[in-house]
Amino acid sequence: MPEERIFFDGEVDHTDQAIAYLGSYHRTSYGGCKPGPGDMVIGASSLVAKANGVAHASHVQEKLTEMVQLNEVLYACGLAASMKGFRLPAGVWCSDLLLANLCKLNVTRSPYLLARLATDLAGGIMVTMPSAADFDHGEIGPLVRKYLTAAPALSVEQRRRLMRFLENVALGCGGVCLLAESVHGACSPQAQVMQIRADAPFEEMERCVRTLLASAPVGN
Ligand SMILES: Cc1cc2nc3c(=O)[nH]c(=O)nc-3n(C[C@H](O)[C@H](O)[C@H](O)COP(=O)(O)OP(=O)(O)OC[C@H]3O[C@@H](n4cnc5c(N)ncnc54)[C@H](O)[C@@H]3O)c2cc1C
Repeated sequence: MPEERIFFDGEVDHTDQAIAYLGSYHRTSYGGCKPGPGDMVIGASSLVAKANGVAHASHVQEKLTEMVQLNEVLYACGLAASMKGFRLPAGVWCSDLLLANLCKLNVTRSPYLLARLATDLAGGIMVTMPSAADFDHGEIGPLVRKYLTAAPALSVEQRRRLMRFLENVALGCGGVCLLAESVHGACSPQAQVMQIRADAPFEEMERCVRTLLASAPVGN
């Protein structure tokens, strides 16, 4: 049996370190791969607000801005984990462990908030859209198209496709990539919580506060 690709051979003392390093690569990558579909959901939500004729409303603008905030924080975390990477004695680079795990833990939450906001902006039509058989029906098809026409920014056909896209990513098989994989890919959230707990500098933070307490005047 070839042995050149055996990396561990009884060195169990290094197991937790190896898992932490491997996890840091994978969890950093989520700051790159999940903001992509997030951008698609934000773009679709912005278009759907135009199609629904409510893009000017202040709460709609706030929700779209919140979506950008949620999504870009994921990207920023991935970048930061990479930028603060460190070189291992073997010469390879490893992401910052704390930031990589924070990146992935945020990824387990923010896409669900994006999907919620997209669902809010789309309206119930996202899940009650008439079927293709209705659209193609000789008698009711023209009526369906007539009554589903909204703001002129998008045609009824574009609005229909937009709703199907959002339904798919929020509730359909597109949610595998946007949602379920965001939770369980690179391990379920508790794995990130454990690593964050291990790497967060609690003692250093306590020491700073102790120093502050020693010099701060005691109030009434
Ligand atoms: C879409 C998708 C793509 C994926 N892609 C890949 C891939 O490319 N490569 C790859 O290697 N893997 C991939 N995975 C697998 C992924 O790493 C696992 O799904 C993830 O690690 C969770 O494991 P599990 O599914 O067996 O769930 P479980 O481990 O059964 O987790 C379910 C729940 O049980 C909890 N739990 C589990 N064990 C314990 C315990 N001992 N004590 C207390 N609580 C516990 C978890 O925290 C979680 O809340 C993918 C998964 C998905 C959903």
